[in-house]
Amino acid sequence: MRTAAIGATRLELVRGDITDQDTDAIVNAANRGLSGGGGVDGAIHRAGGPRIMQECRKIGGCPTGEARITSGGDLEARYVIHAVGPVYNDGVSGEDRLLASAYRDSLRLAMENGLRSVAFPSLSTGAYRYPLRDAARVALETAIEFVKTERHDLELVRFVLFDERGLEEFERALDRLTTEH
Ligand code: ADP
Repeated sequence: MRTAAIGATRLELVRGDITDQDTDAIVNAANRGLSGGGGVDGAIHRAGGPRIMQECRKIGGCPTGEARITSGGDLEARYVIHAVGPVYNDGVSGEDRLLASAYRDSLRLAMENGLRSVAFPSLSTGAYRYPLRDAARVALETAIEFVKTERHDLELVRFVLFDERGLEEFERALDRLTTEH
């Protein structure tokens, strides 16, 4: 567990399961069809029940680098923000830009809905094969920049890493970013 204060917003890095979070919203590592799948996506739909998928079907889909919001169904979180990160190809196909954009668009939805807390998994680093070290840097850089520059009600932005290696990479990336500032 690691925390940092970015103005009035607390940034937290924890090890855990995204579906257990009691934040106002949790973020899903969704696909463009918003059609469910494995990893985070499967876990969220399993834990949250069928209402989330019904809402996803109505929305119809979401381009890479964007996000859409539904209710939280049976989850403790009131909302699920479905973010579509890029599939990692060669690292020079706009992956960083698209990953940053997926985080930013999720935070925009949290802001526009007046949310005070949001929890993210590490987008794109499972089935989409984004290297964890680079993904951690992009995730944290983007979140820090957003909370510093936008007017929002976010008191807590939490990153929930599923395993020890994920947590370590995020901790290292945060150390690098906060010593630079
Ligand atoms: P993507 O398709 O965007 O790569 P995945 O769901 O396959 O998304 O994986 C994203 C990351 O989330 C991976 O690092 C994986 O270890 C992690 N992960 C998988 N299940 C969970 C969970 N229940 N809570 C938090 N993180 C999870």
